[in-house]
Amino acid sequence: MEKFKFGRSLEELKLAFASGEEVLKEDEYLGDDGLPYCNKCKTRRCFVSEDEKFAMRGMCQCQEAEMKRQEEEKKRQQRITRFNMSIENALIGERYRKCRFDTAVITKANHSAFEKCRNYATNYREVLRQNIGLYIYGDNSSGKTYLTACLCNELLWNGAECIYTNLASILAEIRSSYDGNGMGECRLLRQLQRYDFAFIDDLGKEFLGREFNAASSKWAEEKLFEVLNARYNSQKPTIFSSNYSIGELASLLNLDKAIVERINEMSTRVIKLEGDDFRKLVREEKSDIAKSLGI
Ligand SMILES: [Zn+2]
Repeated sequence: MEKFKFGRSLEELKLAFASGEEVLKEDEYLGDDGLPYCNKCKTRRCFVSEDEKFAMRGMCQCQEAEMKRQEEEKKRQQRITRFNMSIENALIGERYRKCRFDTAVITKANHSAFEKCRNYATNYREVLRQNIGLYIYGDNSSGKTYLTACLCNELLWNGAECIYTNLASILAEIRSSYDGNGMGECRLLRQLQRYDFAFIDDLGKEFLGREFNAASSKWAEEKLFEVLNARYNSQKPTIFSSNYSIGELASLLNLDKAIVERINEMSTRVIKLEGDDFRKLVREEKSDIAKSLGI
């Protein structure tokens, strides 16, 4: 906005324009009221005080709209920059960075789960305040990771701080800290507590065939319990995804009762993702393309 010329009365300003002391710009004309107007939008480029005693040069409607547009564009750019930085921090896998609700393939089977996750992201402030966690499960081809990646990206876009990880990565980080590498267990747990939302993808996978490696499996279980407690104590939501229902964690994977109970407690909502076999859909689509190419 142009500077207010303090102490200048409306009459003085009109006089200044009439005498040529104040010069009209190329895209302006002098209106019947003796004040400058915009050629384009035909509105006044002057601000007149309510009592009509004082006046200053000001913006016309199209200049104001342009300024607003530029401010919004700046905000949008800042948001994109922040999003790109936060997606980097969230550790979300390269191939899942572009997953968004708007471009997701919604089918009859996954519609309800997507809708719930979308509402979750929209209401993220309340969800965070109320510490509402999710447990999303479905078989291997149901698109769980895709769905949780959409949710994570949407939350990041909305400005929430998220971490997207899985038990295998957490265990690897802890293991490497034993060799003096890695960030160390305490720091890792502290970091996990810091985020508004923590995603633990593919829970349970580490415990398949545990009977063949009882010691390592026991250790993984202990670490999982520490991770769960870190999040539990932070009173912030955790979003689990798994091939197994919470009941199956106990019955099929034989997870410790305390762990299963804690997961159950942290999962305010359990969402079952009905399978559409996305990999099959992609295969079929590719197969159709190949067919059309005569292959
Ligand atoms: Zn204008």
